[in-house]
Amino acid sequence: TSVENLSRRVSAHWNDATLQSMEELLQGNPSIVITAHRSPDGDAVGSTLGLYHLLTAMKLRASVVLPDRFAPFLDWMPSSESIAFHSEASEAVENLVAGADVIFCLDYNSLDRAGLLSGSIEKSGAKKVMIDHHREPDSFVDVMVSDPTCGSTCELVCDWALASGHWGDMSIAAAQCLYTGIVTDTGSFRFPSVSSHTHGVVSALLDLGLKHSEVHESTFDDQSLSRVQLQGFAMSERLKIWKDGGVGVVALHLNDLERFNYESGDTEGLVNRILGIRGIRMAIFMKESEPGKVKLSLRSKGSVDVQALAVANFSGGGHTNAAGGVLRGMSLAEAKTKVVSVIDAWVSSEA
Ligand code: 5GP
Ligand code: MN
Repeated sequence: TSVENLSRRVSAHWNDATLQSMEELLQGNPSIVITAHRSPDGDAVGSTLGLYHLLTAMKLRASVVLPDRFAPFLDWMPSSESIAFHSEASEAVENLVAGADVIFCLDYNSLDRAGLLSGSIEKSGAKKVMIDHHREPDSFVDVMVSDPTCGSTCELVCDWALASGHWGDMSIAAAQCLYTGIVTDTGSFRFPSVSSHTHGVVSALLDLGLKHSEVHESTFDDQSLSRVQLQGFAMSERLKIWKDGGVGVVALHLNDLERFNYESGDTEGLVNRILGIRGIRMAIFMKESEPGKVKLSLRSKGSVDVQALAVANFSGGGHTNAAGGVLRGMSLAEAKTKVVSVIDAWVSSEA
């Protein structure tokens, strides 16, 4: 069958050793805690909930805990109401993590990315499993499935279900969650990390009853008017194009956000619209998230490596074509000056 063919083409990081370790860790009715990175995105929420649905279908005891809340456009995901957030229930979450036998670390590869959860994960005596697709993983886990060639953590979770023989435990709820992360992390199947296997996995999810257009509508086509207007304002009033059209930067001040009743997630996707402008090779979105703190999102086309730029200058990381970081202890104006000098240096090093 097609599922059998697919299971032979899963990520090479699901090998006999990692599959065997997973089976052993899931023996004996362990208490399982599933975590993802701070400011959880579609892949983080989709992979944790997708794995949660798979494990609970296997009659295992699992809970999802996240460092902080995600954007409301992901609230529709099945069982999202069962997620515990450290930012809102720190004691309960720390107790869950401390009592875990197995901790899954999904969509991150260093403890600092776990935000408010990093301390309790570090202290915990649980066996830890990383399933991730970012470059340069830290070795804080017992089982590491780290495949930077894969477009999403959700695809790697599907690969586990395929390779381990647990595909039969994939519910429609699991499929909806996992498809969401595949879609959001691949820019709706546009990034080079998408493979024929990615589409094969999606095809198998569709065969299970995945309602893909419901996912797209809930995730992308259910935006508040103020969000759409903030994004329009950002593109018409706050966009600067530099370097002969090669670099586009949008910087939003706290006042701009307040004017449009900003809610978390409202600027999601903006950086991709900058990258969509003809001739742009690098897009930067800067947001004053609180006084003295500026969050950066970077995107690029082709060989332009924004991960290296984010690591070297913005205490950040990510992937070649999508990265993020932060500038602290400076105003938005100072942060813009810093970004200009970083880009100037980068352009002259390219020349
Ligand atoms: P976004 O711009 O969507 O927030 O993030 C793009 C990519 O960069 C994601 O893969 C995300 O995990 C990574 N990223 C974003 N912010 C940070 C950060 O502060 N540190 C690190 N290491 N990676 C980040
Ligand atoms: Mn991801």
